[in-house]
Amino acid sequence: MSNQLTHYIGGKRVAGKSGRSAAVFNPATGAQSATVDLASKSEVRAAVESAAAVRDEWANTTPLRRARILNKFLGILEERAEELAAAITAEHGKVLSDALGEVTRGIEVVEFATGAPQLLKGEFTENVGTKVDSHSVRQPLGIVAGITPFNFPAMVPMWMFPVALACGNCFILKPSERDPSASLLLAEWLTEAGLPDGVFNVVQGDKEAVDALLFDPDVTAISFVGSTPIAKYIYETATAQGKRCQALGGAKNHMIIMPDADMDQAVDALMGAAYGSAGERCMAISVAVPVGKETADTLIEKLVPRINELHVAPGTDPKAEMGPLVTAAHRDKVLGLIDKGVEEGAKLVVDGRGIKLQGYEEGYFVGGTLFDDVTPDMSIYKEEIFGPVLSVVRTEDYETAANLVDSHEYGNGTAIFTRDGDTAREFAARTQTGMVGINVPIPVPMAFHSFGGWKASLFGDHHMHGPEGVRFYTKLKTITSRWPTGIRKGAEFVMPTMK
Ligand code: NAD
Repeated sequence: MSNQLTHYIGGKRVAGKSGRSAAVFNPATGAQSATVDLASKSEVRAAVESAAAVRDEWANTTPLRRARILNKFLGILEERAEELAAAITAEHGKVLSDALGEVTRGIEVVEFATGAPQLLKGEFTENVGTKVDSHSVRQPLGIVAGITPFNFPAMVPMWMFPVALACGNCFILKPSERDPSASLLLAEWLTEAGLPDGVFNVVQGDKEAVDALLFDPDVTAISFVGSTPIAKYIYETATAQGKRCQALGGAKNHMIIMPDADMDQAVDALMGAAYGSAGERCMAISVAVPVGKETADTLIEKLVPRINELHVAPGTDPKAEMGPLVTAAHRDKVLGLIDKGVEEGAKLVVDGRGIKLQGYEEGYFVGGTLFDDVTPDMSIYKEEIFGPVLSVVRTEDYETAANLVDSHEYGNGTAIFTRDGDTAREFAARTQTGMVGINVPIPVPMAFHSFGGWKASLFGDHHMHGPEGVRFYTKLKTITSRWPTGIRKGAEFVMPTMK
């Protein structure tokens, strides 16, 4: 074992000096695979100082040069996507093909960011007044930080830093302490692509490192993705310190199945959306809302054999459809919530508890689980489980189903399966949810659009990547100019107008 995962500061791996570290596990075997250093306040400060030393130089590097470095990084990522995916599977547990999918979605944001010269073009108006011109530019914020969750150790950081770097910012990444290896590969490959030392740093750590970033006066903006209580804390603390902040939180995504939906398509969609990545996705569907008794009965009848056939195995098994959960503690939390669902009276149709895989008895596996007759007052409905557990809430009509979606605390994603354009359009227009799928179960926006939820799923004003990412990582400045031939004689004391 004894693989030590360090920080990455000033263009190289730097061993931690705090004396604090955490164990990293292989979720399929339950064996410890590494230890990760946990940064102290002074180690975070060292990363900030390393960024501060190159902040102005990077901000003044032309967008085209920045884009060329990102383009080289893109090439490296494409070449080594499988190496990155393997590192993710080893610490997160998700199946390899899914890890590769995550890397691909991250790569798309890098591709988007290589458009920096185009993305940063400002606006110009000739003659806003007589012989007076105005133009606006977007300038970098300086040093920005990203604090990321365990469930997408490559993709979520890549929602943030490619756009931040393209816009001329230095970036400090504080990845999840549960699967830190991906962050170090990304850092090394950025250096290899020609990114100047100090522009991108990684500090491994926990709350101590996060708080050091939140209170550091040289960090101007915080991007966060994680659970809602922490997102709220990050947003409140960062903004109280005068920082710009976008903090994405948890989710409970509903999928409405209308009586006219193609049921086989709906079932296929639910299988992937509920059980893919063992439900550890913020866009996973965790609540199915069939409309009408017949729709619900057919749905359950078609789902049960499919869930029973799910191939649960270590992520490295090419036939695996679902791997283990990330840690023993998280597995226990999921099992506890399944117990609670039974206690509170939901009907457990498929029970994923007690699954044991030969040769992987210590792995953190939970099988696909299905509850029927779930009601909105139950804990399994209200709480984000973040495991392979699908709850079916039966509804009588569309109106009740649509209201149910909107009455939930979270508003990350939602989907409707129907052949009726009117219903789909009405739902998309009314729902209080940030991302909506029409016959698409996981409507994650592509890199050139922006990702983000509503309500308790996002604190702040900006979504991530796409145009919103560029807005978040830049400050707008508007310059009004006139030249001597346009300047009239004499002082003017009235407010300038076009009269
Ligand atoms: P988490 O909130 O436990 O951790 C996220 C980050 O915050 C980690 O880097 C962690 O080290 C740090 N952190 C944890 N506790 C902290 C504390 N007390 N103070 C300061 N920092 C702290 O989340 P997780 O378990 O890693 O990830 C799963 C959660 O992330 C789920 O709720 C999921 O829905 C959410 N998520 C949301 C999105 C989205 O786009 N909305 C995307 C992915 C994951």
